[in-house]
Parts: sequence; C-alpha cells; structure tokens
Amino acid sequence: MRVHRRHTLKKILLIGTGGTIASVPGTDGLAPGLGAEALLACIPAVQDICTVETLEVCSIDSTNMTPAHWQKITKAIEENYAAYDGFVICHGTDTLAYTAAALSYMIQNLDKPIVITGSQKPINMPETDARNNLLDSFRYAADDGSRGVSIVFGGKVIVGTRARKERSKSYNAFSSINFPYPAVIQDDMVIRYFEEPPAAGPVRFYHSMRDNICVLKLIPGLRADILRMLFEHYDCLVIESFGLGGMPAAMLSVLADEMAHWQDKNKLIVMATQVPKEGSNMTVYEVGRSVTKTTPLMETYDMTLESVVTKLMWLMGRPELTREELRKEFYRTINHDVLFARTK
Ligand code: ASP
Repeated sequence: MRVHRRHTLKKILLIGTGGTIASVPGTDGLAPGLGAEALLACIPAVQDICTVETLEVCSIDSTNMTPAHWQKITKAIEENYAAYDGFVICHGTDTLAYTAAALSYMIQNLDKPIVITGSQKPINMPETDARNNLLDSFRYAADDGSRGVSIVFGGKVIVGTRARKERSKSYNAFSSINFPYPAVIQDDMVIRYFEEPPAAGPVRFYHSMRDNICVLKLIPGLRADILRMLFEHYDCLVIESFGLGGMPAAMLSVLADEMAHWQDKNKLIVMATQVPKEGSNMTVYEVGRSVTKTTPLMETYDMTLESVVTKLMWLMGRPELTREELRKEFYRTINHDVLFARTK
C-alpha cells in the first residue's frame, strides 16, 4: 500500500515596516496606514502557498529608515528565527536596497530566506503591483532552496547586496547591478537560474552599526575645502568620483593634508564611482593612481553604493577590528557583494 503524505506548508513570518505598499491617501499625500495583517488580507491566494503569521516592526515611509530600524528588524528575525521557515519584509521602495544590503551584513550564514519587497502603488488601489509582488515573495520564500537575503520585485529575484532602485514610477523599479538575477517568478512559479550554496556555518546576527559616514559626490569644479568640513564631522568618507575613479588635482593636496591632520583618528577614505555599472579601477589613469599613492584608501570595485555604505557601517560597528582586519573584511565577499577586488 502506498502512503500519501500531505505536503505540509512552510511557515513564513510577514514583517511590516510601512512604505507605499501599506500606504493610504491622506490630506497631505500617501502615508503608511495598513498593518501586516491588512496586507495579508489583500492576498487570499497566499493560503495555498504557505502559512503566514505577522509582526509589525514600524510603520514609516522608508525615507525615514535608519540603522536603528535595521537593528529592530534584525532583532525581530533573530527572536523568531527558529520558529519560521522564512521571512518576508514589506518595505518602502526608496531605501529598500539599503535595507537589503544592511540585513545581508547584519544576518550572515542564513539557511533560510529573508525576502524584502514593496510596491510602486498601494496594495488597496485597483491597479497595483503590490499584490503580485507580495504573492511572489511568499512563493520565493516558501520555495525549497531559497536562502539568504534577497529582494523580490517585478517578477525578479535580486541578491540583497546587488539592488538599485532605477525607476521611480514603473513596476520594474529595481535592477541587479553587476550581478545576475538568481531567479525569476513566472506563471506563479520560481524559475531558478542558479542555486545558493548551503550556509557555511551557523547563522550569525550582528547588532551594532555606526552611522558616522558620509558620501561626497564629486561635480566638476567642486570646492576642495568641503573636505575639511567633512573630515571634521565624519570618520568615514566615501568619495563618488567619475568613471573608473580619480581625484581632481585641486582636491589631492587638501585630501593629503586632512589625512595627515587627522592621522591619530584613523579616518577611512573609500573611493567609489558615480557610473552605475561595471565598477572602479583606480590603476588605469594617472588621476586615480596619484591619489592611491598619496592617500591610504579603499576602493569599491564592483560593489553597489548601497552595499558599500552599509558594509562600512557594519564594519565600523565592530571596534575590535584592527585597520588591517577592517580592510580585509571590506573586500571579503558577503552575499555576493563583491566579485573582484585587487587587495594587494
Ligand atoms: N516613499 C515610499 C517609501 O519608500 C516609496 C515606496 O514605497 O515606493 O516608503
């Protein structure tokens, strides 16, 4: 006699944080108003995919997202990690890529999926991408082989460290930068292009983030004295330069002076590029090499700015690291965040 086992549905925790997906119209425009239970009530088809319980971490427009919120989300997942097979987080799209990167550093060696989603239109509008995005997120979270931090949006799965919001209105708001999509959701099915390998060790949660970091976007002719002000207020400065990476001659000596002036404070300088794709290589042009010769710095290579900023916040939150260890950790690949870094 054959025994037919009933397939038990996976148990997923839905975490609400606000965003457009949960927004309702008010006198001053859209603002979050729906909790996670109300979101769930909009997608009755979820009951065929998984069983869901809900938790509210906050109810904010993601413009107001801060590292303190990432700590709260991390804590919520840590406290519930053993009890669920996976996690779906509803989030505003504006800073969603930062949160996905931050969680990739704060929660490592995951053997379960954390899926972050949102939408361009509120869930209770007649025309919306919210219901599809949310259902797709549950489909991916409940699929065997899903693990790690990812974004599900517009039918695509994006690794948590590789997303960028590239469109402010269209349903395909997010792109994967310098990395392939691991899967898509088509006809209600997860089509996987590659498998995430099993976690190398036990899951690890980090709680501390330091936000003493600033990004300076260079523009032609930018006055060099901005550096003096930034050095005074920040411990880490990410400089988004042009192309493969370089420093205008007018800024070089001010940068070297400031590094000398603050040398006891161990300030961090990180060179990034404003060009959205393919990354930096400071060895190609004289304008790049001259700054690497005069200033000890790190370079972002193919990492996204969202990953760079959150990785530095996470590393600066670990005061036990020596400068050399911090540098090594910055170039260590975490959740696919960096493919190529010239570390010597
Ligand atoms: N301002 C909204 C937010 O980020 C936009 C969105 O969710 O799409 O919360």
